[in-house]
Amino acid sequence: MDHYDIIIIGGGLAGLTSAIHLAKEAYNVLLLERCTYPHHKVCGEYVSNEIVPYLEQLGVALPKTVSIDTLQLSTKTGKLLQTKLPLGGIGISRYTFDHILYKKALSVGVTVKFEIVNNVTFSKETFTVYTDKENCFIANVVIGAYGKRSGLDKQLKRDFISKNTPWLGVKAHYSLPEFPDHLVALHNFEGGYGGLSKTESGAVNFCYLVTYKSFKTEKSIDKFNSNVISRNIFLCQFLEKAQPLFDEPMSIAQVSFDRKEAVEAHMLMCGDTAGLIHPLCGNGMAMAIHSAKIASERIHDFFKNLDYSRSEMETDYAREWAHTFRRRLQTGRMLQSLLLNPGASNLLMGTITKSPGLIRTLIKRTHGKPITT
Ligand SMILES: Cc1cc2nc3c(=O)[nH]c(=O)nc-3n(C[C@H](O)[C@H](O)[C@H](O)COP(=O)(O)OP(=O)(O)OC[C@H]3O[C@@H](n4cnc5c(N)ncnc54)[C@H](O)[C@@H]3O)c2cc1C
Repeated sequence: MDHYDIIIIGGGLAGLTSAIHLAKEAYNVLLLERCTYPHHKVCGEYVSNEIVPYLEQLGVALPKTVSIDTLQLSTKTGKLLQTKLPLGGIGISRYTFDHILYKKALSVGVTVKFEIVNNVTFSKETFTVYTDKENCFIANVVIGAYGKRSGLDKQLKRDFISKNTPWLGVKAHYSLPEFPDHLVALHNFEGGYGGLSKTESGAVNFCYLVTYKSFKTEKSIDKFNSNVISRNIFLCQFLEKAQPLFDEPMSIAQVSFDRKEAVEAHMLMCGDTAGLIHPLCGNGMAMAIHSAKIASERIHDFFKNLDYSRSEMETDYAREWAHTFRRRLQTGRMLQSLLLNPGASNLLMGTITKSPGLIRTLIKRTHGKPITT
């Protein structure tokens, strides 16, 4: 059986970032990922600038062709608001982002295997990780970075996995050259909201989150786009002019925003595996990368300091995770419920229009400061 210092389950942003960080500290790292790269993912593809200095320290340079500094918000009745983003961000497709990180991970010596993890056990200070290819691997430390939900959550009997959630995510790329580079637009419609922003390829990403209750009023994504989403005048204008670039939009079901634990069965959970912020905040990717940094630092302390026990590492990681992200998640939940309530969303937009400082305060409450090692 192959033995590693660290095994990382899942090679999205959190898994790949922690793999790079820890391999650069000279640990022997195995990353197990379900899908080969590159691949598209359902995501708004606006990433906050807060992660740029940290990724640069890890030697990861992102294409900055699409620099975004302006947020546009509209209600379903067509009320529109525009404001500068305090820190701003980058428009980058997950197809490119994850692939850049994957290539970096290989270059710093991470072993990557394309296998699905279906079980993990922990005994006598050692993890055994089992995969669908009937392999098993041994490690001292395991990071769970397998995203929003996975069969592993069932194995671990995590609370959120047994509950149905009302959310569905849909995404596709479109061609609309006149769409401004500097803009991320968030438009509300019945039962959900959708984000528009450009990516490094010049394509415009349209990604939305919607309740099943609203979605099931129509029989297909096409019908939902024309009959429900297009009632928002801005989305209607977009869909009329833009040319779809995907054969079919992508979708993901059962998107859960429930509370999760940051440590489960002695694994440090990173990114969405530890908790997902409402996408309207545009901070999930930065949180995934930031949580990978926190976990990597605690793991480094654990390996290099014999007086620092596993239980101290777990407690410190969980505490730091909560300290860094809990307020963002709470604000995200509050904003989502206001935005989806027609009366409350008009009132919120009215208040924000009269007091533009309020929106910047809300953005700051869901984002962090630039992070470095
Ligand atoms: C509709 C929507 C829009 C969003 N828009 C934005 C946005 O504009 N900006 C933003 O910052 N955030 C956004 N987010 C959030 C963002 O997409 C996530 O927070 C981010 O992808 C989390 O990264 P991750 O590494 O935790 O998970 P992921 O990127 O999901 O990676 C998890 C990886 O684990 C792999 N995996 C799963 N199970 C297994 C297994 N058993 N074995 C091996 N591999 C496995 C998967 O294949 C996947 O590659 C959005 C989310 C949604 C739902």
